[in-house]
Amino acid sequence: MSLDKIIRVTKTKIPTNYGNIWFFCFNFGERDVFLISNKLKINNPLNLRIHSACITSEIFGSLKCDCKLQLDLFLNILGKEKKESYALIYFPDHEGRGIGIFNKIKVYEVQRRLNLDTYDANKHLKLPIDARDYKPTIEILRYFKINKVILYTNNPNKFKFLKNYKIDVIRKPHIAKPNSFYSLKYLQTKIIKGGHLIDIEDLNKIIFKESNYVK
Ligand SMILES: [Zn+2]
Repeated sequence: MSLDKIIRVTKTKIPTNYGNIWFFCFNFGERDVFLISNKLKINNPLNLRIHSACITSEIFGSLKCDCKLQLDLFLNILGKEKKESYALIYFPDHEGRGIGIFNKIKVYEVQRRLNLDTYDANKHLKLPIDARDYKPTIEILRYFKINKVILYTNNPNKFKFLKNYKIDVIRKPHIAKPNSFYSLKYLQTKIIKGGHLIDIEDLNKIIFKESNYVK
């Protein structure tokens, strides 16, 4: 399968709450993609998370999803790790599963008014359920000569995507606990309708009282 050429634009080391991280910028046609790693030299096999941007939770603290929790969970592991290679590939253009921030806000409003879940709200607005394209991931892995990946995800599509490009991939479950009543409903929908590989029994163990969540 052919891929567009990816160009490394720049890199630097940044001190963060998670530790010192390396920040690489890549350009892929019209798209910008970041790679954040614990080391300058990235080795095989790579512990990897492929993460879609979520302005609403990651910047504004929205409780409607678990994106920021999953991001924090992985960056906490990455920042502490000294021996193995860890990296997060971050897609700024994947907001709202690729439909963009304005459409995502439209979806939220439809959810709020009509009490629909995230998938039915997208359908109501005739928007794709998932418009994300992960191809830059493959070019970035080739750039660093990585052919073996330990993937931190609950999403079966990301796992299948890497396998399709002949990457040797082991999946590591990456469970984030719901932090609110809203993200709990979102997680349940992702399991039931999105086929996410979170055990619903495990999720139910996390759910003790709805009143413990922020509403
Ligand atoms: Zn989110």
